[in-house]
Amino acid sequence: MTDQIKFLLDENEIPKSWYNIVADLPDPPAPVLHPGTGQPIGPDDLAPLFTMAAIMQEVSTERTIDIPEPVRNIYRQWRPSPLYRARRLEQALDTPARIYYKYEGVSPTGSHKPNTAIAQAFYCREEGVKRITTETGAGQWGSSLALAGSMFGLEIEVFMVRVSYDQKPYRRAFMESFGATCHASPSNRTESGKKILADTPDSTGSLGIAISEAVECAAQRDDTKYALGSVLNHVLMHQTVVGQEALRQMEMADDYPDVVIGCTGGGSNFAGLAFPFIGRKLRGEQTVRVVAVEPANCPSLTRGQYAYDFGDTANLTPLVKMHTLGSAFVPPGFHAGGLRYHGMAPLVSQLVNTGEVEAVAYQQVECFEAGLEFAKAEGILPAPEANHAVKGALDEALRCKAEGTSRAILFNLCGHGYFDMQAYSDFANGKLHDQPYDESEVAMALAGLPSVA
Ligand SMILES: *Cc1c(COP(=O)(O)O)cnc(C)c1O
Repeated sequence: MTDQIKFLLDENEIPKSWYNIVADLPDPPAPVLHPGTGQPIGPDDLAPLFTMAAIMQEVSTERTIDIPEPVRNIYRQWRPSPLYRARRLEQALDTPARIYYKYEGVSPTGSHKPNTAIAQAFYCREEGVKRITTETGAGQWGSSLALAGSMFGLEIEVFMVRVSYDQKPYRRAFMESFGATCHASPSNRTESGKKILADTPDSTGSLGIAISEAVECAAQRDDTKYALGSVLNHVLMHQTVVGQEALRQMEMADDYPDVVIGCTGGGSNFAGLAFPFIGRKLRGEQTVRVVAVEPANCPSLTRGQYAYDFGDTANLTPLVKMHTLGSAFVPPGFHAGGLRYHGMAPLVSQLVNTGEVEAVAYQQVECFEAGLEFAKAEGILPAPEANHAVKGALDEALRCKAEGTSRAILFNLCGHGYFDMQAYSDFANGKLHDQPYDESEVAMALAGLPSVA
């Protein structure tokens, strides 16, 4: 093992293919069902919303899918991303643990999101699409798709969750700078938005509502597709460049993680880092423990049900089997906006269900404390979402200390927090509190789960 703290790969080591974990799963994923008939859907059912390329990747069972050269060329701007050994953090914690983090904040929008935004926009342009609608929570996905749209000459229309729209004006300015249009959601531009506003005029919005609005808009025009920033198989697959690079970089460090940790909103940054490692485990090559960290305020993996549910609030999407709090659940307006989703990626849910992945939930205040401890040692202020992964890594490092054992911990620092200074300012001023999520609201939302034969 070296004293090195930074592990960098050369441009030509950007992975040439994405990794599809479906090829290594012992059981095939549960089928996606038509909301009306309850029958498995086929590629044609999804064609109004997604490009054929995305649909074929969504249902693919191939282990690897080639990354188109134009996409790899754009990846070159910030990939391969660095992997760091957090030596100063280890010292600050006085832990025998070896802490590593993969840093996705080096992308143009400051998170892992462009890894899939660029790919999705590329396929849209290839298939003659003119306009993409989407939702955004904290704004990272909207920013990333705005960037991708400007690179491929596509119009981007973003429905931004109301609470983030109000909390993060600079995110909106960022999207508009790249030529995107941005509406606060719920809006009165769609039937789903109008319905929510009629019932709850002061709705803080949610990803589920914003997805309904974006899907409704996309379905109305032939030249328009919809893009999702997480949850779906093809989105998770696009993120696996992260874990594939990390595998190589851990080799450079002459080490291998005992535990891999990521925060989970819809599951994409977590999967991006963890799936290539889990794949090695599934193929019997090397063991690893994997931990998904979620917010205690929106605890789909630790408190939700593994059941068929809609991906959106207005129930316009197909039914997928996932850990869910119920599509009617609107999480409280905490600061990690990117983690406010009622469901979870079906592939991540399946791995939690089979015990391949462990899940833990943390409150937001303890996550901000962990994030600041990390920042003071390592010099990078994490995104509020990423603070959950940091907290998971810190707890693991402190367990190593208590046990007197040295384990290698690898986590995904999926984004920086420089667009989230309001959250840090609120934290510093004691304005940020832990609100318990509403058990009765979850119970109500879960009671409304669709019945599937
Ligand atoms: C969007 C986002 C998340 C949550 O989405 P996942 O699909 O779970 O990764 C987490 N962190 C950051 C920085 C994000 O931008």
